Amino acid sequence: MTRKHVIVPPFRDLDPALEVAERLLAQGNPWLAGVVSALPDEHAAADRLNRILAGNGAAPRLVESGKGWRLVHVTAWPGCGDLVAGASGLAELVVFGGWRRIKRCAVCAQAFCDRTAGCSRRWCAGHRPHAGSRAVL
Ligand SMILES: [Zn+2]
Repeated sequence: MTRKHVIVPPFRDLDPALEVAERLLAQGNPWLAGVVSALPDEHAAADRLNRILAGNGAAPRLVESGKGWRLVHVTAWPGCGDLVAGASGLAELVVFGGWRRIKRCAVCAQAFCDRTAGCSRRWCAGHRPHAGSRAVL
């Protein structure tokens, strides 16, 4: 599978799967949280992510190639369920943005996806400065 254009921040092309991944991470989904907790060991994290995908009948696999990680095939189909969709979204994010975009909040350690152009985000949605009217817990 090849895409016809470059996927760049804020990775809107990866939605809605990436949105699902972010929501599940914010909810503390144990499967996706397990992927994040394996980092910075990329192979262990990829193994966990691949197990989620394989265990739920999804085809995509993260494979390491020379310079980085690539996705052999993306399968997030309607009705596949949030976990597969979210795992696929995370896998795609890794392919196009690298594992460094899956981070933990500097305040509460909540896992989140960094969509910024400079990969500079440090906080979860609840602790991000200038978050508008969002209440700080
Ligand atoms: Zn936080």
